[in-house]
Amino acid sequence: MKAFYIGCILFLITSQMLIGQHEILLKDYDPVSIYNIPKTKVSKAKFPIIDMHSHPYAMSDEEIKEWVATMDVIGIEKTILLTYQTGKAFDSIYAAYSKHKGRFEIWCGFDFTGYDQKGWSQKAIRELERCYNVGARGVGELGDKGEGLLYSKPVAAYGMHIDDERMKPVLQKCGELGMPVNIHIAEPYWMYEPADVHNDGLMNAANWKVDMTKKNILSHQQLINTLENAVKEHPNTTFIACHFANCSYDLDRVGSLLEKYDNLYADISARYGETASVPKYTRAFYKKYQDKLLYGTDMGIKESMYNVTLRILETEDEHFYKKKLFNYHWPLYGFGLDDSILKKLYHENAKRILK
Ligand SMILES: [Zn+2]
Repeated sequence: MKAFYIGCILFLITSQMLIGQHEILLKDYDPVSIYNIPKTKVSKAKFPIIDMHSHPYAMSDEEIKEWVATMDVIGIEKTILLTYQTGKAFDSIYAAYSKHKGRFEIWCGFDFTGYDQKGWSQKAIRELERCYNVGARGVGELGDKGEGLLYSKPVAAYGMHIDDERMKPVLQKCGELGMPVNIHIAEPYWMYEPADVHNDGLMNAANWKVDMTKKNILSHQQLINTLENAVKEHPNTTFIACHFANCSYDLDRVGSLLEKYDNLYADISARYGETASVPKYTRAFYKKYQDKLLYGTDMGIKESMYNVTLRILETEDEHFYKKKLFNYHWPLYGFGLDDSILKKLYHENAKRILK
């Protein structure tokens, strides 16, 4: 009898365990590495950094001051703020951040108001020149996920892509003014794949899914083509394809463009999670395109966020997770980039663009 009861209890426990295992949801999966291997905290960058991709996250003078203090701790000389803004909104961000002389460069957007009306290009150029005179030294972040250039404020340009005829005089003017153009094109490829059990970036793929059933939406390939058309058409305008032109699944795709066009660069912002999963391949990519890649973050202003980017770039740490930051459940690996590459990535390439 006693043995029977013990048997029943054991059965209950094991069946509960099995049920538990089958009921773990992907969104809750949060593995912790148990390997006893080096875990490096990189508190300060090996060389001074220009962060080419950030946004005006700090909302008050006090917060901006705290941000500058964090930049000092990490070794960030200067941060480029992609505001998306024009008009008064741009001016007030400029006024707030330019108090910290030399620590921020504040870029504007394009004013797409009336983009579907005749004479828009000249109007947009006038606002661009006005922003330039206020202090803007670049444009961004423009963004096209298939439906047009939707990021700039106050108006989104549905159906107008970067290679549109109307954009030509505006992009030409950016070249004349020496204003680089930072553009977000498409989304990582997982977002185009079915969000099913085979999607290895499923957690982000589902959250950021690109709805290809929308009318007139361009595919990943078509969007890359619009970028290439614009870059080819305006050899005197510098373009920065942010997030590796969202080609982290196939770095050769963006690599072939970087090779072909002197006026094209890529920033590495917000794609650490997508590349630190394939460290050997990515390391070789950094080596090959060391003159065309720019450090960027795009992930807020926490000190710990910067630490993670440095750990991935500078160390050879293996199999660590940063689910909170990147939302992928796969492990990450450091690239251990050489000093000569880090210097270019951190500031030399940026200096060439910023002049
Ligand atoms: Zn951004």
